Amino acid sequence: MDRSPVARLSRIVTLSPPIAHKFGGTSVADAGRIARVADILLARPERQVVVVSALSGVTDALIALVTKAASRDADWDGAFATLRDKHRAAARELLARDAEPILAVLETEFASLHDLLHAQALVGHVSDDLLDIVQGLGEVWSSLLVDAALRARGARSVRIDAREVLVVESGELGAVVDWDASRARLAALDLGAFERVVLTGFVARTGSGRVTTLGRNGSDFSGAIFAALFEASELHIWTDVDGVLSADPRLVNEALLVESLSYAEACELSYFGAKVIHPQTMSPVIARGIPIVIRNTFKPEHPGTRITAQSSAVPPVKGVTTFGGLALLDIEGAGMIGVPGTAERAFEALKLAGVSVVMISQGSSEHSICCVIREKDAEAAQRAVRYAFTRELDVGQLEDVSVRGGIAALAVVGDGMAGTPGTAARLFTALGRARVNVRAIAQGASERNISVAIDAADSVRALRAVHAGFYLSAQTISVGLVGPGNVGTAFVRQLAAARERLKRDSNVDLRLRGIASSRAMWLGESAVQPLQALAGFESAPTPLDMDRFADHVRADHIPHAVILDCSASGAVADQYAGWLALGIHVAVANKQAGAGPIERYDAIRRAATAGGVRWRYGATVGGGLPILGTLRDLVETGDEIHAVEGILSGTLAWLFNEYDGREPFSALVRRAKEKGYTEPDPRDDLSGLDVARKLVILAREIGWSTQLADVNVEGLVPSALAAVSVSEFLERLAELDGPIGARFEAARSKGHVLRYVARVDAQGEARVGLAELPGNHAFAHGRLTDNVVQFTTSRYRDNPLVVQGPGAGPEVTAAGLFADLLRIASGVGNSP
Ligand code: ADP
Ligand code: ASP
Ligand code: MG
Repeated sequence: MDRSPVARLSRIVTLSPPIAHKFGGTSVADAGRIARVADILLARPERQVVVVSALSGVTDALIALVTKAASRDADWDGAFATLRDKHRAAARELLARDAEPILAVLETEFASLHDLLHAQALVGHVSDDLLDIVQGLGEVWSSLLVDAALRARGARSVRIDAREVLVVESGELGAVVDWDASRARLAALDLGAFERVVLTGFVARTGSGRVTTLGRNGSDFSGAIFAALFEASELHIWTDVDGVLSADPRLVNEALLVESLSYAEACELSYFGAKVIHPQTMSPVIARGIPIVIRNTFKPEHPGTRITAQSSAVPPVKGVTTFGGLALLDIEGAGMIGVPGTAERAFEALKLAGVSVVMISQGSSEHSICCVIREKDAEAAQRAVRYAFTRELDVGQLEDVSVRGGIAALAVVGDGMAGTPGTAARLFTALGRARVNVRAIAQGASERNISVAIDAADSVRALRAVHAGFYLSAQTISVGLVGPGNVGTAFVRQLAAARERLKRDSNVDLRLRGIASSRAMWLGESAVQPLQALAGFESAPTPLDMDRFADHVRADHIPHAVILDCSASGAVADQYAGWLALGIHVAVANKQAGAGPIERYDAIRRAATAGGVRWRYGATVGGGLPILGTLRDLVETGDEIHAVEGILSGTLAWLFNEYDGREPFSALVRRAKEKGYTEPDPRDDLSGLDVARKLVILAREIGWSTQLADVNVEGLVPSALAAVSVSEFLERLAELDGPIGARFEAARSKGHVLRYVARVDAQGEARVGLAELPGNHAFAHGRLTDNVVQFTTSRYRDNPLVVQGPGAGPEVTAAGLFADLLRIASGVGNSP
């Protein structure tokens, strides 16, 4: 033996502790990926313990094969051939001309599988022994391929079948490692100063020699066990995501990478369903303080997530998880109060029935004990507990032992939660605002985890709402638009321009997912940009189905939904109460509901209150001007309103601001129409009806129950022209000139101006029509289409409060609607 110092030194260097690398099924899915795995390993300098899963999907395929063979399904041969060809093809692609030796081994492997399946078909029912042998074969084959790929690249690699070294016994919580036996078997292999060892994940053997597995997803556990057995300095778990994310990325797009986690946090997260790491994985490495790194095979340069003993309180919540397939077991009855040991008896009964308890919650009244179990155990659990309390149930000390399925658990996890007050409040606020019903609550004494049981149907929505509630992602809001006319399309353009900024700066993610007109609709997915949505509506509309539209907007997977109504339709207003009852917020530029029948108005308000959702209509008066908001503030702060008056129509404002008696009034109406200041039928403006509607909306905001019929409306359309066609009306427009000219002259002779004014007062007087006003009146100096509103109140008595500014046109109205949408958004978030 060479005893030179250099040789001794090199032996010390090569004997530095190895790093264990575990590759999941997706990392070794095919030849290309296996080649990538080999390259990753070869690019690293350390000694390596490599644990591999089966090629993705293979374990499932093997289990299906056993079932098929057992049921004597003639097709099992075909499925068998598919599996064999998949591995053969991978070997050929990976090793080209050098594939022969591996192909020969695979041939033998598959021949013995064929025999096993044949035996299975003869047995005729699934044999557990056979199933255990067969389901672990995928790891045997994948390890052959990975080992061969390493050697084909010139690496020194040794392959070990874990069934020859890993000894486990089955325990209550899954496989229990026999460390001494396993260590002894490994030592017997005398690997010496190996460079790379490739091991099969998932499989093991019992002390009595029976082949077994470590349970589904057990390769992570294998990785940890071998990291411990080989005294590795780190365990790297390679998968197809960058690391542990704050939520399942398949459910929450914006899930964030968690850079570091404590073992305890990782255990909680994985126990509660973060599939990226298997819960059992941790125990062997925790005991030895070996760090775990979760990382991405497709981005080997990415540092991933580091899991160590160290805990950090920042951020307080690291992740949110959900998992379903659960049931609630409820034991109720006054007989439990003050009786010691009731809970113990219940849990003992469950334990004896082999039912594992996922979550426990007991109210301090002791009137009921409630726990969460797996749905598949529900019946057995109910039976066991009923049996244990037969006497108490008979004499009525216990009322009932009930189970309810369709339950999911949601858990928020983080070491820092303990020292951060308000975490629970934030969780429940987020759930409440997303209208998720919480059925049971449990918080571990460690305060590292708060779990709630909810209906499984709510779980994705709940997950997203809670994830956003902790600012881990933006608050997502599903938006539906009814009435894509001038205002509607202006809104879509404004949304397109503001969306990214809102997401970045205000944590609000607005998704336009549906557009409906009176006849057609378009429904789209969340990823569609607003302008694409509009294009989708224009190019590929489908017939309108309002129920489907509302259902789509109120998606189960998005926490919050808002429908915006830019139509002028009473039929759409009829839907509001129904939408609100479904939990959809409603924001409108449509005046029909605000000014329509008081019964409908009240029903809408009641539905909003009952549903905990909002109906906003700030854009119905003055577009984007702060008119209704100002009035609401006055009312809510206790001011007494004496009168509200104003110029509420941009069209009429423009007409009377321009009209000076020189040019006929009809000519101005034509110009206004050309400029787009009027409705398609200018009588809609000139009739005063629109102004009357706004006045009703204002009055109701004060709490007055004004109806449209209560408003005395002086229209500007002569009765002879009221019923004619639009074109005839436009032809005979000059018939307006005489009467209006006369009113104008009468005013001018007194030094007054003529304006179209609306007014409602505390005495119940409501009037809309022409008014002669002195030249110094607040309404006399409006410009262009300015709206002006004047509030006379107890606080603003001598000098009324005036709000003035452009109040007509699609842009400002859309902006008013947008502002209402954002107010709703800030109400659903956790901002104060
Ligand atoms: P592998 O085949 O590598 O074992 P798995 O499918 O078992 O991979 O686990 C990785 C998957 O876990 C990811 O693709 C991801 O979709 C899912 N996952 C669920 N929850 C989380 C989470 N909180 N963080 C990261 N990934 C998660
Ligand atoms: N192949 C096994 C399974 O699919 C083990 C694993 O991949 O972790 O469950
Ligand atoms: Mg896995």
